[in-house]
Amino acid sequence: MTEHGHEQVVLVADAASGLRAVIAIHSTALGPALGGIRFWRYACDEDALRDALALSEAMTWKAALAGLDQGGGKAVVLVADPDAPHPADLLAALGRAVDELGGRYLAAEDVGATTADMDAIAAVTPWVTGVHEAAGGSGDPSPVTAWGVLHSMRAALRALDGPEAMLAGRRVAIQGAGKVGGHLADLLVDAGARVVVADSHGGRAARVAARVGGDHVGVDAILEQDCDLLAPCALGGVLDADTVPRLACRAVCGAANNQLAGRGVDELLARRGILHVPDFVAGAGGIINLAEEFHGYSRPRALARAAGIEQTTAAVLERSRVEGATPERVARALARERVAREGAGRRWRPGDPAGWTNGSPLRSLRPAGTVIGR
Ligand code: NAD
Repeated sequence: MTEHGHEQVVLVADAASGLRAVIAIHSTALGPALGGIRFWRYACDEDALRDALALSEAMTWKAALAGLDQGGGKAVVLVADPDAPHPADLLAALGRAVDELGGRYLAAEDVGATTADMDAIAAVTPWVTGVHEAAGGSGDPSPVTAWGVLHSMRAALRALDGPEAMLAGRRVAIQGAGKVGGHLADLLVDAGARVVVADSHGGRAARVAARVGGDHVGVDAILEQDCDLLAPCALGGVLDADTVPRLACRAVCGAANNQLAGRGVDELLARRGILHVPDFVAGAGGIINLAEEFHGYSRPRALARAAGIEQTTAAVLERSRVEGATPERVARALARERVAREGAGRRWRPGDPAGWTNGSPLRSLRPAGTVIGR
C-alpha cells in the first residue's frame, strides 16, 4: 500500500454466506473510487490482495486519463467457480460491506459478475453502478468498452501507418471472446476488419467466430497470430518475457486490465517495434459509461464520450514518439499529473461533492433498499 499510495484496503469476511473479499481503494483524490467487482478463483488470500491492489491502482490512472472526477478502486471476491451464479446472501453481504464505505467505493461489474449481480447489490446499497437500464442504471458496460477499444485502435493504426489508415482489411486477433471481446469482434467486422478469436471457455470462441464470419484458434495460438492488432480481452498479465518474443502483431490494443505482467515489459515491446496502447487508455469506455450514471444515464452520450478515447490514445502515442518514452510511461505520467494537479492530496469523505471540479453533491444513485425489477 505504501509503495503504490493506496488509501484503504478492507478485508471482508461473512461466515454465514461464506463471503471472502477484498475492497481496495487506491485513490479518491479526484472523487469517489469507481471500479468493478471481480469474482475469481484465487489460489490464496495473498493473490487476491495483490490483484485488488494492482487493479485498483490501474483504475485511478484510467479515470484520470478519461477526464472523470472519480478515483480508483476495485473489489475482488474469492470464489470456487467464477462462472457459477453468485448466491443472494453472498451478494447481500458484499453490498453491506460496500455500503459501510459510505460512497468512498462505487461498485460495478467486472470479470465473473453480471448486471443481475449489480441489481442484487443495489438492494442493499446505493453505491453501485451498472444496474439494469430499467432501474435507471447503465446496464452492461462492455459494449461501450468495446466501442472505446475500437476508437483506440483507429488512433494506433494512424500512428503506425499515417493519417489515412483505416481498420478495413486489417487482421485483428482477439484474446478472450467474452463480453468485451465478443462486442469488439462485431464492431471490427462492421468496420471491414477480419478477426481471429480464442477463448479458454469451451465453445465461446467458435460461437463468436461463426457469428461474425471470422476464424478461431486455440488459446495457445492466439498470441502468435500474424496480424495488425492484438486485442487482449481476457485476463491481465498476458504480456511478459515469454510471450512478447512470440508476438506476431504490429500493435497491442485491448481492454484487459493490467496486461503487462511486470515492470519493463513495455520496454520489451518497444524493442520489438510493437506499438502498445496502455490498457487503462484503451479500456476506459466501461468506466466512462458508468460515470455517466451520475448525470442521468444516456447511452448516446456515453458512446460519444468513449469515442474520445481515440484522441487520448493519439495524444499519448504522439508524446511517446516525441519523447522517446514508452506509451505506458507517458500515460502514467499524464494521469499522475492530473491527480496531483486537480486532486492535490485530497481524500474523498462521505458528504463531499461528487467531484472537486463541478462541486455538485454525489447523487445517491437510488435509495438503499430499492428492489430492482428485472
Ligand atoms: P468476460 O469474463 O466476459 O470475458 C473474458 C473472457 O476471457 C472469458 O470468455 C474467458 O473464458 C476468457 N479467457 C480467460 N482466460 C483466457 C485465456 N488465457 N485465453 C483466452 N481466453 C481466456 O470479461 P469481460 O467483461 O469481457 O472483460 C475482459 C477483460 O477486459 C477483463 O480483463 C476486464 O477486467 C477488462 N475490462 C472489462 C470491461 C467491461 O466493460 N466489461 C471494462 C474495462 C476492462
